[in-house]
Amino acid sequence: MLISNNRQLDVLSDAQAELCALAGRRPSPDFYAAKLARVWGRAANATAYTDLPPWSTAAFRALPPTTRTDLKADPWSYVAVGWQRTAKYYETTGTSGQVTPTPRTVEDIVYNAISVAQAWRGVLADDDRVAILLPSDVVPVADLVVSVSEYLGLPHARLYPFAVGIADYGRVIDLWRTLRPTAVFLAPGVAVQLTRFLKQRNQFDDLRASVRTMMLLGEVSTEALRARLGSWWTAKVYDASYGSTETGTLAATCHRARLHLLTGANYFELATPAGTIEPLRTGARGRLVVTPLNLHARPLLRLDTGDEVALEADCPCGNPAPVITVGGRSTDVLRVHEVPLTIRAVEDLVYGATRATGYLVETDPAGRYVRLLLERDVRAERGSEPGEIDALQETSARELGLRWDVVSFVNSLPSTTKAGGSQKSWKRSNIRVVEPT
Ligand SMILES: [Zn+2]
Repeated sequence: MLISNNRQLDVLSDAQAELCALAGRRPSPDFYAAKLARVWGRAANATAYTDLPPWSTAAFRALPPTTRTDLKADPWSYVAVGWQRTAKYYETTGTSGQVTPTPRTVEDIVYNAISVAQAWRGVLADDDRVAILLPSDVVPVADLVVSVSEYLGLPHARLYPFAVGIADYGRVIDLWRTLRPTAVFLAPGVAVQLTRFLKQRNQFDDLRASVRTMMLLGEVSTEALRARLGSWWTAKVYDASYGSTETGTLAATCHRARLHLLTGANYFELATPAGTIEPLRTGARGRLVVTPLNLHARPLLRLDTGDEVALEADCPCGNPAPVITVGGRSTDVLRVHEVPLTIRAVEDLVYGATRATGYLVETDPAGRYVRLLLERDVRAERGSEPGEIDALQETSARELGLRWDVVSFVNSLPSTTKAGGSQKSWKRSNIRVVEPT
């Protein structure tokens, strides 16, 4: 987040003043009206929004939502600035394999970083040393953590263990011994893989000693997995944030480990099953619709995220912004033996009933056969495995109505189950469709 001239310094001061004034408060209707009018004006410069009527709250409410399909079909038509204004350029590959070009202006970067930094300030301490095991190239995920660390004045290092020619796990460990990180940012799959790697080399007890906080991001993480990692590392483990490359960060964790919507940086609405779009309400459920308030390179109006969310009551941390749980997308459900399986259901089983360090679900295309492969912990006692499998089958039958055709332990799973880093889908990483024999 390098600031190199007075204009950029003004952007930084404005963002700081605006977002600090909103900390711990609910933004007013006037605030939203003024910010939305400005996004509306910027969006009009993008070809996708050339037919926008003049701004009014009535025009905003009448505007049909922008869908992800629209956006992915022609992403450049939503870009509202040229290369002159572009400060950084990223690309992301979604689950469909299609590339989304992502230019960012200084405004995009500064506002997002400060908004997230304000939330993480409650989780990170002034004396934290930050290790960032996230990819630096092409995708923006590591840059955000770097910007937040810079803004909060925390010493930090990027050490992605898959940077070919630069770093692998061996190099990460060497650097770790010097930095002795207290806060570690990484994808859940990498956290599991790193743990196994350190255990295999008898270095786990030494290297986990400095770590107080683990911030998971880049992939979906479940509460069951976070609890498992927390007990291994004797650290507090957080689902650090929720958002997307298209929108920027939409929610961030508080010190109570709950995701609060970033209401000072985004205007949120909910799409209901009836087809209407309504304002946020505590206790409501629906698909999250967002208008990010500070996007300049690619302003988005009423983007339907496709994510089902539930809004919960007040959090004891004192932040009045709604807490969300993200239910995921309907495409992320696997049907086997007529039972819909979600990542949460499977990981509650795997990490709740067994001591496995990972898993792979194998099914045939019709979903009539399902096998669960569990990865045994390094140097685990095998004698307890039959009991763990029985416990898992019983819980599964009781909670999900599913009896697995086969459950077995293996020494290690393919690295695709954990090599994460960019937003991988659960279906790609932990599910394998096999032909029936
Ligand atoms: Zn909270």
